[in-house]
Amino acid sequence: MIWVNDKTGRFKKRPHYSPEELDFECEKQIEIFLENKYQRYELPIITKDLTILIEQNTENFDSCCDLSEEGDDVEGITYFGKNKKPVVKISSRLQEVFLENRLRTTLTHEFFHVKFHDFLYQIEEPPSLFDLQSNSLSSENTHKCKRDNIIKASEKDWMEWQAGYGCGAFLMPISKLKKVVHDFRTNFKIPFEISSLDSPYCQLLIFFVAQQFQTSDEATKVRLMQKGFIIENSVQKSISLTQ
Ligand SMILES: [Zn+2]
Repeated sequence: MIWVNDKTGRFKKRPHYSPEELDFECEKQIEIFLENKYQRYELPIITKDLTILIEQNTENFDSCCDLSEEGDDVEGITYFGKNKKPVVKISSRLQEVFLENRLRTTLTHEFFHVKFHDFLYQIEEPPSLFDLQSNSLSSENTHKCKRDNIIKASEKDWMEWQAGYGCGAFLMPISKLKKVVHDFRTNFKIPFEISSLDSPYCQLLIFFVAQQFQTSDEATKVRLMQKGFIIENSVQKSISLTQ
């Protein structure tokens, strides 16, 4: 991790992580949690455990909140406060059974904010245009996460981009993901090449990986593309799965 200028203006400096660093740090969080609770590291992590992870690291956590007045498509909010743990609220809309995979990505997205961004609010006062009471949940310290940014956001908003990358890295930790992709290619006797979105294997690979990690097809596709297992066009390149 290196410190770089924060062009969004939230902080003077902000942390920059390489994707490999995020993969390592996110997998470590999940592995330690599961080893401590079950004495084994097996995935998928159940949804209840995702809520426990957030509860353990927040002052207050509400997984069934009416966020309709927070703006269109807001699915999660993390409130940061100086000298206290964050508060997390998740939209009640995600409690529908058929939206469980979306709930899982939103939970891990907010968990990333809690685990990797809260410390910034402890070491530096964010710039404030208003003289807000220090104990209030001020809008300056409120981070609203919209549906379109939960999995993948523009890199211009580094907090959303990192949390979007992090939710995939929590749910599909890199060492396990490599093994699942390797198993898929071995079991189905598919050449060790990158699958393009228009290849006949691509949808099967997404389905196979999503089943292993209990993730949505969209989150799985984004993660596989971020790690180079799937590419947009049909240009095929050989890769080593031991990278
Ligand atoms: Zn967010």
